[in-house]
Amino acid sequence: MLNDMQAKGLLVVISGFSGVGKGTVIQMVLDELPTLRFSISCTTRAPRAGEENGVNYYFLSEEEFERKIEEGAFVEYTRTFTNYYGTLKSEIDGPISSGVDILLELNVVGAKNLKKLYPDCVTIFVQPPSLEALKARLIGRGSESPESLERRLREIENESKDIPSYDYVVTNTVARTCADEIVSIIKSEHLRTDRAATQNIFPTED
Ligand code: 5GP
Repeated sequence: MLNDMQAKGLLVVISGFSGVGKGTVIQMVLDELPTLRFSISCTTRAPRAGEENGVNYYFLSEEEFERKIEEGAFVEYTRTFTNYYGTLKSEIDGPISSGVDILLELNVVGAKNLKKLYPDCVTIFVQPPSLEALKARLIGRGSESPESLERRLREIENESKDIPSYDYVVTNTVARTCADEIVSIIKSEHLRTDRAATQNIFPTED
C-alpha cells in the first residue's frame, strides 16, 4: 500500500520585494538542500552581469516568448513594465512527479496563480527588517533614479498587501538566519501528515 504511493516533490515559491536580498538567501537554501532544484524561468529582459542563459533564466526574445505562450508551454506568466517572465511546465511537472523538490522565485501575481493551480505548494514571502532598511538598500545600489525609486516604493506598498496570503513570512535581517528558517520550513513541510512522504509504520486493514 505504502510503496505504490510515490512521494511527490514539494513546490516551494519564494517572493520578496526587489532589493530584499532574495538571490543570496535562495542560493544559500539551494546549497543547503542538494535535493532542491531551482526552476529556471523564461524572461525577455536582458541578462545582467554574471547571469547565464539556462542557469539564472532562459533569456528569450519577445517573439520567442510569445510563441511559447501560444504553444501553451507556461504554467504561469506575467508582464512587468516592459518584460515578460514565465514558468515553463517542463520545469516543474516532470520533476515533482518523480519526487524532486522545486524552488520557484515568482512575483506576487505568479505566486497567486501558482497557488490556484497547485494548492499544496508552499509559499514564502521574504520581507526586509524595515522599510527604511529597504530604501537604504535600493538607494545604495545606485542604479535607481529618483523616479524609478518612487515607482519601486509604490510597487512595494502594493505588493505588501498580499503578504498575508502567503503561508510563511520570513525577515531577511541576516541572510544566513533567513536561509536557515526557509530550510526549516521545507524540512517541516516534508513531515506533514498530509504529504505522501509520511510513512505510517502501523499496518492498515486494507
Ligand atoms: P528580476 O528581473 O529582478 O530577475 O525579477 C523581477 C521579478 O520577476 C522578481 O519579483 C521575480 O520574482 C519575478 N519573476 C522571475 N521569474 C518569474 C516567473 O517565472 N514568473 C513570475 N510570475 N515572476 C517571475
